[in-house]
Amino acid sequence: MASKGHIVVVGAGVTGLTSACFLGEAGYDVTVVAAHVPGDSSIEYTSPWAGAHWRTHATPEEPMLCDWDVQTFDYWLDVMEREKQDPKLPKSGLKMYDSLHYWDAPVKEELWWAPRVKNFRALSSLQEPLLTISKRIPAHAPAIKEAAACRAMSVNVPQYLLYLQEKARSMGAKVIKARLPVGSGLEDALTAAESHAMVDGGRRPDCFVNATGLGAAKLCGDEAMYPIRGQTVLVKGEAEAIRTRIGDGYTAYCIPRPGAGMTILGGTKEVGNWSEAVDPETTARILQNCSYIVPELLTGEDGGFEVVSAQCGLRPARQDGPRMEKEVVGGRKTVHAYGHAGAGYQNSIGSARLVVKMVGESIGSSIVSAKL
Ligand SMILES: Cc1cc2nc3c(=O)[nH]c(=O)nc-3n(C[C@H](O)[C@H](O)[C@H](O)COP(=O)(O)OP(=O)(O)OC[C@H]3O[C@@H](n4cnc5c(N)ncnc54)[C@H](O)[C@@H]3O)c2cc1C
Repeated sequence: MASKGHIVVVGAGVTGLTSACFLGEAGYDVTVVAAHVPGDSSIEYTSPWAGAHWRTHATPEEPMLCDWDVQTFDYWLDVMEREKQDPKLPKSGLKMYDSLHYWDAPVKEELWWAPRVKNFRALSSLQEPLLTISKRIPAHAPAIKEAAACRAMSVNVPQYLLYLQEKARSMGAKVIKARLPVGSGLEDALTAAESHAMVDGGRRPDCFVNATGLGAAKLCGDEAMYPIRGQTVLVKGEAEAIRTRIGDGYTAYCIPRPGAGMTILGGTKEVGNWSEAVDPETTARILQNCSYIVPELLTGEDGGFEVVSAQCGLRPARQDGPRMEKEVVGGRKTVHAYGHAGAGYQNSIGSARLVVKMVGESIGSSIVSAKL
């Protein structure tokens, strides 16, 4: 099939790589240019720090995000089904678990997603696992008031990022590791990206995708961007189920990492905190909160978790939600796709499909400056 054009995707997080895969599938030549690529570890690269599981945060007031999350759920189901049918396919690192939801107060969030996940059901306090958990929670600590269960996915994030990169490469995408200049404007950064993409005789790009996450704050001076810092603890053992407990001013969660024999425990949501330093008191609080809801991993000699590491990541949040927008920057057609906050994995499929649509509109359009 003749190429529809050459697209440079800036960013190799879950947003950029998923977009690269969908652009490749749609018939474009793709070059990914990124300061960090799968396997790298940096506070500037959010994707490797995620849990990650599918548990939507979108509300009915955010219909686009609801739709993206459902698209991702359905697409991931299909990926897992195809892997089951054909053991020779590359392994994505996706797996289905029971996902248990606990609330310390009567549920306020609208559970619009309940019919869209698998096997959603309310749980009574008079049945397991609540009987056991209730006994573990000390009398002075808040009790669980409501609970529900469903089936949902967990993602082995290091594996999934490598899987996406290899998938993009298998469709002909090039991945170039390079940091683009910041501080002199997006136009200069795109000029640099173009030079990288044209090394070795690559054709002039027809369009750019800006999937730089929190990096967009500096790359295009977007003052609406801010971090939501999340501290987590990696422990030994693969938990039997995903758990999320929402309390007054805190969240405790457990996300098994499929096939890795490890589990991520969390966590915090610290708005505006740019620090990558792990706070030992927060680690202790995460372990304490999770000890009530993840009893099967209390395998340490002291009766606690076997801690592998503690770490922080910065969710790339943006006032008014992700920026999905077409722009012409110094004559270069550009599609912005950043600011997915704490939902980049579960947003990824719907977001990538929208990127493909906007790239098609940009290239097909003779309008010099268009905004969605
Ligand atoms: C603790 C924690 C738990 C999370 N749990 C979940 C979860 O359960 N489910 C979920 O869906 N999401 C979760 N998230 C959110 C998710 O991780 C993010 O939304 C997602 O990783 C954002 O991906 P991204 O590709 O947009 O950005 P990033 O992963 O940050 O990628 C940005 C890319 O842009 C590149 N870049 C930036 N600036 C430049 C530059 N100047 N030059 C060149 N390249 C540049 C970087 O190198 C990188 O390749 C969690 C996040 C955290 C921190």
